[in-house]
Formats: sequence, C-alpha cells, structure tokens
Amino acid sequence: MNERIILPNEQIYYKFLEFMKKKEENARSKKRTWIYIQNPKMYEIKCDKCNGTNIDWSEFESHIWCYDCKIDTKGTGGIFDGPVPIKACAVLGMCLDRYDMINECVLTYDYEKQDYVPKIKGD
Ligand SMILES: [Zn+2]
Repeated sequence: MNERIILPNEQIYYKFLEFMKKKEENARSKKRTWIYIQNPKMYEIKCDKCNGTNIDWSEFESHIWCYDCKIDTKGTGGIFDGPVPIKACAVLGMCLDRYDMINECVLTYDYEKQDYVPKIKGD
C-alpha cells in the first residue's frame, strides 16, 4: 500500500505546529506601533555594536537600525536607562512625543493621566 493515510488528528497537529511557529515569529520580531518623533540619537541612544550614532528607529520594537552595521540591534539605553524626567527633557530640547503609526497621529504625554494621549492641534 503506497497511499499515505492522513489521520484527521494529524492534520490538526500540523495546523497547530504552523500556528505555534507563527506565534513564535511574531514574538521575536514584534513590529512597532509607535516611534518617538525624534531620532534615537537625540535620546543619547547609540549603536551597541559600533557605538555610532548613524542610527534610526528600527521597524521592530525595542530596536534601532544602524546604517553603518546595517542591522537591527538593541542599541544602548540612552536616557531611557534611568527614570525619564520628562519636563527636564523638554528643557534640553528633547521631545518625548510619539508618532502613533496605527492611528497616524502624534501622541503627547498627559501629566494628569500619566499616559500618552493624542496631541491636539495648536497645543
Ligand atoms: Zn553600528
């Protein structure tokens, strides 16, 4: 008998494996839903491989893109290594506003809500 018999359970098993593989891939390379509006070097972040600042935000969460190394990498912590004094950052010319890539709007930090809210025009 040459014909291979596929048991119904086997099909379910392969579907399950496929599902788990996709889940794992997504976890490893979660795409960003927002970025800070300024370049990572503005927040004192550097490439953790070459220590350079020829960088930008990666399309993946918690990663930067290094133009010199041509890789997505974690980068150094920059100002985010410690507690971020938002008001002090503003004085230093840093802006912690975020660009919401899903809703295509700028988010700003609301001190009362202690969360990011959509920035109102003229604010
Ligand atoms: Zn680099």
